[in-house]
Amino acid sequence: MSPSAENTNGSTLTDAAVAKDLAKANATLASDNVAEVKPTNGTSNGASHSNAGLDASSLTYNLKSNLPPLDFANVPKTANICTDHMITAQWTSSTGWQAPALVPYGPLSIMPNASVLHYATECFEGMKLYRGYDNKLRLFRPSRNCKRMLVSAARIALPAFDLDELEKLITKLCAVDGARWLPKDLAKGAFLYCRPTLIADFPSLGVQRPQSALLYILLSQFPEMAKTGGLRLMASEEDTIRAHEGGWGFAKVGANYGPTLAASDEARKRGYDQVLWLLPNRMSGKTVMEVTEAGASNFFVVLRGKDGGVKLVTAPIEQKVILDGVTRRSILDLAAERLSKSSAAKSELEPLEIQERKLDMQEIVEAVEEGRLVEAFAAGTAYFVSPVGVVHFQGKDLQMPMAKGDTGAYAEVFKTWLADIMYGNVEHEWGVVVDEE
Ligand SMILES: *Cc1c(COP(=O)(O)O)cnc(C)c1O
Repeated sequence: MSPSAENTNGSTLTDAAVAKDLAKANATLASDNVAEVKPTNGTSNGASHSNAGLDASSLTYNLKSNLPPLDFANVPKTANICTDHMITAQWTSSTGWQAPALVPYGPLSIMPNASVLHYATECFEGMKLYRGYDNKLRLFRPSRNCKRMLVSAARIALPAFDLDELEKLITKLCAVDGARWLPKDLAKGAFLYCRPTLIADFPSLGVQRPQSALLYILLSQFPEMAKTGGLRLMASEEDTIRAHEGGWGFAKVGANYGPTLAASDEARKRGYDQVLWLLPNRMSGKTVMEVTEAGASNFFVVLRGKDGGVKLVTAPIEQKVILDGVTRRSILDLAAERLSKSSAAKSELEPLEIQERKLDMQEIVEAVEEGRLVEAFAAGTAYFVSPVGVVHFQGKDLQMPMAKGDTGAYAEVFKTWLADIMYGNVEHEWGVVVDEE
């Protein structure tokens, strides 16, 4: 059969094919410890890997020596400063994953014709390392970031890896650099930003599935972006759409972000903090502007329905338009556990009905006009839980109520609950302690 005849059923072009790659990866990962791993025959090099799996236990160390203590108070909290070390791991389609290495932070060596530099074959993750009030280091639900990274990798034709091994590598880097960069006592309540990254360093201009890739993990300083007083969001217009249904807005792939930078820069120049990404839906005769997410965070509104009950509404993930945020999921989980009708007796807040569903600007405008909008907030690792004060839409600034002056009451309680877990004020399975070296 000729290669083109193999492709005529078109199945390799669908999102289902990516899902199949992922399923195959999962199956291969499950059998990683079994000696007999089927080699791929070259015709179906999916997201699976044919050889060695990623193995954190084979990590080699090349540590910087005699580092003086850090003057913590005077380190600028800006995103261009990385810590002392990074972890790298090379993959090739013929060997699989080579032993990862913990090395001094520094430049990568990459060929000018590398796939990532031309075809954006890159995906990444973002999570924070917190110095708790109890002086322990913690990550927040890191297994969710690892899982999402595998989904993103499959979407962009990058290799699969064992989720636990990635989490172990992340933890290792945090354990090594955490002590110096988040010094005990000095840095209580502070955090670093962890950025696992996967790029195709495959040196070929061929527009094809890359045959080599580099995983690397960085720790960086990061500005405090959580804002009190309310974020000012500028709604995107019909000619600037971040992601479409059936697209790949759900994946944390670099290709989703570069094209948004001009719009967010424009929003900032006009005095707004972020873009509220709308998705025009022209199916119903008129155009409905669906609300998706805000910058690199998910978007929530709390509104009183016409039935009188209070709803927590956020865009659904099924259309694959928005990122399946860890913060988003955690807020929904906590709301279900602590603020639903059956559980809210413990809280002073009115119980919430949780709705992951499509929401359009018209509904928000109406709720504001009729006094039914309770509050709005954005949620993600970077902005944490930030109340939204203004949404600029069709030439007008819509004021979002903030019951407590500089925040809504629900945003405040979600923020407190999450911070308690991240900084160890309460013991919770989502706060994963990093044992320092
Ligand atoms: C990362 C990201 C989020 C938030 O996800 P978290 O896991 O909560 O940090 C939301 N939207 C976009 C577009 C993102 O890139």
